[in-house]
Amino acid sequence: MHIRFNVPPVTGREDGYIQEVIKSGRICGDGEFTHRCEKLLEEMTGAPRVLLTCSCTQALEMAAVMAGIQPGDEVILPSYTFVSTANAFVLRGAKVVFVDIRPDTMNIDENMIEQAITEKTKAIAPVHYAGVGCEMDRIMEIADRYSLKVIEDAAQGVMSTYKGRALGSIGDFGCYSFHETKNYSMGEGGAILINDPADVERAEIIREKGTNRKRFLEGKVDKYTWVSEGSSYLPSDINAAYLFPQLEMAEEIDQDRLASWNTYYRELEPLARAGKISLPVIPEECEHNAHMFYIKTKDNAERSSLIRFLADRDISAVFHYIPLHSSDAGREFGEFRGEDRFTTKDSMRLLRLPMYYGLDEETIKRVAEAVFEFYGM
Ligand SMILES: *Cc1c(COP(=O)(O)O)cnc(C)c1O
Repeated sequence: MHIRFNVPPVTGREDGYIQEVIKSGRICGDGEFTHRCEKLLEEMTGAPRVLLTCSCTQALEMAAVMAGIQPGDEVILPSYTFVSTANAFVLRGAKVVFVDIRPDTMNIDENMIEQAITEKTKAIAPVHYAGVGCEMDRIMEIADRYSLKVIEDAAQGVMSTYKGRALGSIGDFGCYSFHETKNYSMGEGGAILINDPADVERAEIIREKGTNRKRFLEGKVDKYTWVSEGSSYLPSDINAAYLFPQLEMAEEIDQDRLASWNTYYRELEPLARAGKISLPVIPEECEHNAHMFYIKTKDNAERSSLIRFLADRDISAVFHYIPLHSSDAGREFGEFRGEDRFTTKDSMRLLRLPMYYGLDEETIKRVAEAVFEFYGM
């Protein structure tokens, strides 16, 4: 039987909730299920306000507008990330400045940030890779010292924490993804965490096409008008109804994934001890959400043979980001500052193994056995 890399989460309660939306006769955004999802996310993260969006890409774009990023500004981020982390700022005319990652977590190296700061720097966008937190205390300390905004790309980090605080709730803004490939999904979707209560009203206006429609619906103004820049970042309530039951059982989904992650770790540990592969590292300050299970091979060539070897055994394993600074757009819109010690080298070694809610132990053992066979162990 073919082992898929990802299977989108389904709880079985989606049908009923979607029917409720249809019967309500109100399927646009900011409806009942949007509110219910936002409330659960606020409870889960402690953020004063969480707004659903149509994607994490949109949440990042909103955050870039909220942070006041202007043409000529610079934003510091890792090169080892998804294009959306960079595009959000490029769309505002900013230059993206890439710095190296740490090889243990594949997260931005907090010690490489300061050397990349100039008088043009306006923000730092740490990415919590694989749902494992960046070294946020250090990042926030640097941001405070240089008066920079911090926009957390926590696309993969729903339900993860750093020193007990939800990822996405530590910087000025946090961005979540509910894409099909993430731990909690609405097909396409996301959320922005507004961590300063003073930013809430402006964020609501920007999400509502630059109007004060929200205040109008609440009866606080008698007509709604154009009040600032903005766009349409609201998802339909039908999508929110698909996401809602997953958030209701977020803990159960999280525990299921963590059990799979731990099984992988236990099964593959002998290969790591034998020096054949490297396993992921979870720093003590971090509780992760088992967004992904990856291993690192010796080099790119070994990774390619392993992918083929697994594919021949009907197992889908996939590599991940090609560093942004090595792409055409990366060269046009950005620059790598400092030495690239790990970004290129380690990104070419990383291989993601099948991981999804409901993945059973037997399947994990089959994957692990195939990896052992590849290494002749
Ligand atoms: C998935 C992902 C995104 C984009 O999320 P969408 O919801 O698909 O827009 C951005 N950044 C990171 C790190 C991601 O993993």
